[in-house]
Amino acid sequence: MIKISVRDVTSQGMDIDQTIPKEGIGLSDEEIDLRSPIHVKAHLERVDNCIIADTKIEADFGFACARCLGDVFLGQEFEYHFDFEVAAGVEYIDLGEEIRQEMILANPARILCKEDCKGICPKCGANLNIEQCKCT
Ligand SMILES: [Zn+2]
Ligand SMILES: [Zn+2]
Repeated sequence: MIKISVRDVTSQGMDIDQTIPKEGIGLSDEEIDLRSPIHVKAHLERVDNCIIADTKIEADFGFACARCLGDVFLGQEFEYHFDFEVAAGVEYIDLGEEIRQEMILANPARILCKEDCKGICPKCGANLNIEQCKCT
């Protein structure tokens, strides 16, 4: 949870800059493969009954290489724009929950372990980065 007091967000805006473990916003290993804490930067502004949050997150994401399925991790940056409607009496908003949902949806682009990854032999399944198989 990234709890933000509605009262602190004025029309001048406020900034947050913090690093949180993925558990801090309720992400589990099954949901996402992260290899680092999440760096969250956000600028929040009050506009009428809304809080607008321009948010940037940075973290190291783990992937399976699209060709050889080898383990890769890569620093990635995502920008999100959130609108929170603030009903009368609401004291806090949770930026963390919004980030959690976006991060689960984020479909990583095709990632390769290296530019010239040779992949896996479609016949015998050998990892061609490591060995040369006998198939033709
Ligand atoms: Zn690969
Ligand atoms: Zn082969």
